[in-house]
Amino acid sequence: MELSTQHIETLVLHAGIEPDPSTGAIMTPIFQTSTYVQAAPGDHKGYEYARTQNPTRDVLQKNLAALEGMDHGLCFSTGMGAIDACVKLLQPGDEVVSTNDLYGGTYRIFTKIFQPYGIKFNFVDMSDLSAVQSAITSRTKMVWIETPTNPLLRIIDIQSVAQLGKSVGATVIVDNTFSSPYLQQPGKLGADIVMHSATKYLNGHSDVVMGVLCTSSQELRDRLAFIQNSCGATPGPMDCFLVLRGLKTLHVRMQRHCENGKVIAHWLKSHPKVGQVYWPGFEDHFNHEVAKKQMNDFGGMISFTLKSNSVESAMQFLKSTQLFSLAESLGGVESLVGHPATMTHASIPKEEREANGLKDSLIRLSVGIEHIDDLIADLEQALSAVTE
Ligand SMILES: *Cc1c(COP(=O)(O)O)cnc(C)c1O
Repeated sequence: MELSTQHIETLVLHAGIEPDPSTGAIMTPIFQTSTYVQAAPGDHKGYEYARTQNPTRDVLQKNLAALEGMDHGLCFSTGMGAIDACVKLLQPGDEVVSTNDLYGGTYRIFTKIFQPYGIKFNFVDMSDLSAVQSAITSRTKMVWIETPTNPLLRIIDIQSVAQLGKSVGATVIVDNTFSSPYLQQPGKLGADIVMHSATKYLNGHSDVVMGVLCTSSQELRDRLAFIQNSCGATPGPMDCFLVLRGLKTLHVRMQRHCENGKVIAHWLKSHPKVGQVYWPGFEDHFNHEVAKKQMNDFGGMISFTLKSNSVESAMQFLKSTQLFSLAESLGGVESLVGHPATMTHASIPKEEREANGLKDSLIRLSVGIEHIDDLIADLEQALSAVTE
């Protein structure tokens, strides 16, 4: 059966996965080795040194490529390692157009690491296509999209922005971390490279950090594999095994994340102490129509403000949740809560934060797969601790 005709529920379990030829082991072994014995110089079984190739990693890479509906996958030690490899496709003088609502680590590597090497980054509101159009020039060699964005869950029209990028021959990259291929496959919408922090939904169990790049271009794959091997941000075989294991339940987890997310988003919206709720599934969410078109469902990420909009009331809430653990990161089976103004976005000055719509009381939820009644009960008791 052709991979391209199979559903993601089947691909997560079978794509690229064969019983181990030497033993019949149904689960991909952890090839914990740094090197491989050669019969004579150059006479080997396709594996020479573990930075370059590892059989556990190979299987994971094939599986991930199939999930994104693309031909090639490459795994990195972290999401940032994957992003780093993408920017190294560029030369000094090249320009990148990206969104002004970007993951903080991506913004940091762009502006603090690569800008000094002579690469120019333009950040625009990518939900506004005319802003993208006017930022793109003949020097634009890369367009970097992230959607839904963090923490306001803005939706960018991948297909339209990709078309604008293609019109000047730029490489279009989508950071698909917040959606996972279960919700959105940017390769089908024109992305040349799909990037993930596998640390989040792909692994899903909060016990690994890893990055992924998928592409259908042989040329891009070869250049990225060269960078991967030259720069060395490759993952270990144990981590590859764990992500392969986590992926087997991606569809089941994502379905529950979405179901729980939907109930919580609506519940929050009707709560008297809650101000605004950001969730792309609301019909009045900006670009809801685009979300409906390019996503299969709306995910488990929700942000909301408190009516009082003070840091103090946010603190009262954050100290009171019990099932929602206060922590950075997202996409694991257990529910997490975060406070962008003091955690992920603390390095951005308050005026700039507020101008971007990021209020002091904004709280971000990564809704897990616990029983919905228990999650609601936890949010209810935490909101009752808010005195203002
Ligand atoms: C976490 C994250 C990254 C960075 O990935 P790491 O695995 O932490 O290095 C990049 N983009 C998004 C959207 C993320 O959430």
